[in-house]
Amino acid sequence: MKLVMAVMGLLLALRAGAAPLLDLPQYPQIDQHALERYAYLTIEKREAQARAAGELGCVRYCEMLERAYTRVTRAAREQGEAAHAIGWRLVVTTTRGEAAMSLPGGYVVISEDLIASLRLTEAEVAFIIAHEVAHVLLQHEAECLDYLQATLLPHGVRRTVRDLYAEMDYDAGALLRMESVMQSGEMEADYAGLLLGAQAGYAPAQMLGALKKIDAGGKQRAGIVRTHPAMLQRLQRLERLLPTAERVLTVAGGTRKIKNLQ
Ligand SMILES: [Zn+2]
Repeated sequence: MKLVMAVMGLLLALRAGAAPLLDLPQYPQIDQHALERYAYLTIEKREAQARAAGELGCVRYCEMLERAYTRVTRAAREQGEAAHAIGWRLVVTTTRGEAAMSLPGGYVVISEDLIASLRLTEAEVAFIIAHEVAHVLLQHEAECLDYLQATLLPHGVRRTVRDLYAEMDYDAGALLRMESVMQSGEMEADYAGLLLGAQAGYAPAQMLGALKKIDAGGKQRAGIVRTHPAMLQRLQRLERLLPTAERVLTVAGGTRKIKNLQ
């Protein structure tokens, strides 16, 4: 449903020849301030750990990360007023085995180890950043918590963000119930990420290389709950969206920008 709305929004945007491309949702049942506070504390903790281990900050890929992040967040800010208000912050680590993640409020974490081990190109890094940025824009964390709240018994009792996270930590059943919401969030972040990346000037077909390399490198996390859909399914969906993303790139004048990068 949301995807259909996003496509409609995209077609309108293309017709008008301007952004925004995405239809940003709202989850009024979830305390956004508390959610962002929780994210802030989580990121502070992660930064402190990385700092103590001497793994905080970029070393090898500073320029590439800076450029991809700047371009993608610029495209993100074009997605309307709510998106413009987000204070984006990129945290780079060199931690082995760490990949990429994002948190509500505009935090994006990426490890140079991911870039080095998969030999990612700038377009591929841009896609990974854009995927994470899309999670923030589309408020997937709030969506999950909103869904969780609706499934908890007794119904109709409003839980705090802290209570909902506690539920996720201790109730494996709750996590399993959220599996399909998390997986559809991943598909949506792929889709929106591809469009954002195209608007930022990156060639869609090149961006898809990131998922192919993650798949080949066996980097998909395995766990009790499958938070991510199968990679083949993700790639097939995105390949169908390539013509649309190509149009976004053309409208954004991206072809010229990519040439400037080389
Ligand atoms: Zn994701």
